[in-house]
Formats: sequence, structure tokens, C-alpha cells
Amino acid sequence: MTEPVRDPAIIEAYLRDASNLHGQAELLFRPRDADEVAEVLRWCQARAMPVTVVARRTSTTGAPVPMGGAILSTEHLNRLHSLDDVDGGVLLGEFQAAVEAAGQFFPPDPTSRHECSIGGAIACNASGSRTFKYGPMRPWVESVEAVLADGTRVSADRSTPLPWSVPQWVEPKVKTAAGLYPAKNLLDLLIGSEGILGVVTRARLRLIAKPTAVLAMLVFLPTRESLLAFLPRARALGPRALESFDRKALDLIRGRLPEVPEADCAILIEVEHEGEPPLDPWFELLDDVGALLDHSIVATDEPQLARLHAVRHALPATVNEIIAQHGVQKVGTDFSVPADRLGDLLALYDAVPMASVCFGHIGDSHLHLNLLPRDEAELVRARELYMELAKAVVAMGGSVSGEHGIGRLKRAHLALMVPPEVVDGWRALKAQVDPAGILGRGVMF
Ligand SMILES: Cc1cc2nc3c(=O)[nH]c(=O)nc-3n(C[C@H](O)[C@H](O)[C@H](O)COP(=O)(O)OP(=O)(O)OC[C@H]3O[C@@H](n4cnc5c(N)ncnc54)[C@H](O)[C@@H]3O)c2cc1C
Repeated sequence: MTEPVRDPAIIEAYLRDASNLHGQAELLFRPRDADEVAEVLRWCQARAMPVTVVARRTSTTGAPVPMGGAILSTEHLNRLHSLDDVDGGVLLGEFQAAVEAAGQFFPPDPTSRHECSIGGAIACNASGSRTFKYGPMRPWVESVEAVLADGTRVSADRSTPLPWSVPQWVEPKVKTAAGLYPAKNLLDLLIGSEGILGVVTRARLRLIAKPTAVLAMLVFLPTRESLLAFLPRARALGPRALESFDRKALDLIRGRLPEVPEADCAILIEVEHEGEPPLDPWFELLDDVGALLDHSIVATDEPQLARLHAVRHALPATVNEIIAQHGVQKVGTDFSVPADRLGDLLALYDAVPMASVCFGHIGDSHLHLNLLPRDEAELVRARELYMELAKAVVAMGGSVSGEHGIGRLKRAHLALMVPPEVVDGWRALKAQVDPAGILGRGVMF
């Protein structure tokens, strides 16, 4: 086994994720292949030493933040074996660029795709704007190679039976990435397990032909009524993405796109098409709901699309920077609700008595309200507000996490959504997979 790094100055760089939660660790392992991952886990298992799988640390939930013990970094698991077969530490954006250069397409597109790893995206069952059409990571993962917490190496696809009893609970009928999946096979159990059962060392992913052309439009709506009238008809037109930005998000965006007008909200629409871009039905709809048509920004080629994506990507990153400047942790919701409760969710967000920025995946009724506490006292209040919102969302039949997962920071919210006997079942499962309870201790439950 390679010697672990013990230098605190090197380890320090691995102790924080995008939530700004700060942890601690004594040892850092950077294995180069699955055999070395297995050795590290067996070594930690024999010593009952906690170990945290750390990839690119873009998590917003504290999931990759170690609280003592060892770090297992996936940074050297970075080989692209073939177009659809890659190591867990490979950057998702790098993989997608290689796939698209070959005329193929891998749809899941977390906004962080140029910073996050494939293993991290699998472990969180990450989503993105295109999830509206294509779903999250789950259906795009064909198989994985993984090392379980006790050091056992496994290959898992959807025909791999479960060696343990996995609680079969009913997930809310919305986009959700909260808790262990009620899986019937080992692959589906590992997807979304947030690094508490094993380490994904390699994955085979499902590719499709790259769409011929994409029309993107950033359109501006003057009122809440126009937004709620727009959405059902927009969904019916079959876009691949419907992303929204509230008035305060538009204020942040204006720094990069000065032509952004004053509006109640903006929607970024993406539509795949062949032949001429389908502008007519969209502009008819936008006209009907009173959109600020003269201000619409239309992108019909790759550079224009990339410009809109850069703006979309800059938004969460800017919010995270503001939070870091305030020196507090992020308090950003990840709630999704049934489509017919979206208006209620927006009303709840409007009533929150704290500075905030709201944006997200409105096509899936899944919106991030980022509270912006300025100091520790406001942080405490922000957490209380978050808990009140989470209760209301669960009462609506929603999920406390549509895509970011639970991590260390959202366990109390998960407990609102999942019956205690299910959590007990997860604990029993975890004890079988991970006898010394070393992997991702304190994450999820
Ligand atoms: C600006 C920004 C935008 C974002 N946008 C989105 C978005 O649109 N959609 C979305 O879903 N998320 C988004 N996220 C959250 C985050 O990027 C994703 O959850 C991402 O999948 C995490 O990948 P990572 O490589 O950074 O993993 P990390 O943050 O390092 O780890 C995340 C979790 O995965 C586990 N893990 C990592 N690698 C492995 C592995 N190989 N095997 C087993 N467990 C592993 C870790 O232990 C941890 O529990 C965003 C984050 C930021 C900062």
C-alpha cells in the first residue's frame, strides 16, 4: 500500500466542500487503482479508522468533508479507458467533451460538470438542466466497478443481485436524490449512496447520438402569473431544459449579460431540433403570456449556447463566493415539489424574511433558494427557516433533496421525509456492508 500523506498543509486542501463546511483528517490516501483502494479500505477497516471518499469537493452538503481519520481521494483514478468506460475520478466535463468530439452524447449535465467527477456524480445521482428530458445520472450508468467498505471488489450492473436486505420504501413522486434508493440490484443501490457503502472506481456509461441542433432562449417574464401560465404549455412543447432565475439572480447575471432587463424572472429554454429552429410555437406561447419579447436572447449555434451556459454556470458559483465572503456555511435549498404545488413553493420562498437568490430547474419544479446570511446569528436563523421550509415541502409531497443529496448538513431534513424504520433498515444494511462503520461516517443518517 502506498504511504499516506500526513502533512497537515497538504491535507488542508481536502477539508472543505462547496458548502464551506470545514473538517479535519490525519491521513490522506491517493490510490491509483482499484487494488490500492481495496488495500486502503481494508487497512482502515482493521483499525476502525473513519475514511471519507473525496473527489472534486463540489458537493454542497458536506458529504465529502472528513470529520477525522483518513481521506481517500479519487484524483488519481483518472483514466478514460474507452469512450464509454472511465475511471471514477475523471472529470465529467472532460468525459463529455471526448464523447461529443466523437459525435456521441452523455446527457446528465450538473452545472458543475467541468469541476465534478463522474464518481461523485454517480455517488450523488446528480442531475442538471437536461434532467428535465433525460433524467438524472441513474439511467445513464450501465455498470460500475466498486470497492465496498470492507475492501471487497465488485462489478455491478442491473442483473447483480443484492447480497443484503435493502429497505423498500416509497420515494416521493418528484425528482429526488434523498436517502438510499429502494434498489432491487447492486448497481442501483450504489448510485446515490453518497460514498457510504463503497468507492466507485470505474463506470460504463450509456451514450446516445449527439442531438443535431439545439435552440436556446433566455426569455423574460414580467409577473408570477405569466410564469405560472407559461410553464404547463412550455412543458408540453417538449424542451430538454427549463431553468429559471428570479429577480435577484438576474441582478447577479447582469454583470455578465448587460442586456438583461428588469423582470420578475427569466427562463432559459433549450430545445433539441432538426432542420429550422422551432421558434414559432415558442414565440406564440411567449406572446400569449406577456413575455418581454424584445429582450429575448436567442442562441442557435455553439458559441452563443456556450455564452448562455457560462452565465448559468456563473450563478451558483457567484452565490457560493458571496457565502464564502460572509464566512458562513451555505444554506441553499434543494427542494422539489409536485408540479401542481410549484406556485405554493414560490409563495413560500417569497415569504422568507432573509436576503436570498432563487434559481433552478423549474421544469422539474425543483428550485434552489440560496439564503444569504451575513453572520453567525443570521446563519442560525437561516437554518431555522430552512427547517420550516423543509417541513412544508414534505407536507406537499416534495423531496428535501432533488439532486444534491443529504450529506452531513441535511440529515435532519431527510428524517422528516423517511420513516424511522426505514432509517433503521439502512443502519442495519450499513453495518453489514461496513462492519467497523468507517466509510462516510455521519453522512446521510
Ligand atoms: C457551482 C456548483 C453547481 C452545481 N450544480 C449541480 C447541479 O446542477 N446538479 C447536481 O446534481 N449537483 C450540482 N452541484 C453539486 C455537485 O457538483 C455534485 O453533487 C457532484 O456530483 C459532486 O461531485 P464531486 O466529484 O465534486 O464529488 P465530491 O463533492 O467530492 O463528493 C460528493 C459525494 O460523493 C462521494 N464520492 C465522490 N466520489 C466517489 C466515488 N468515486 N465513489 C463513491 N463515492 C464518491 C463523496 O464521498 C461525497 O459523499 C453543484 C455544485 C456546485 C459547486
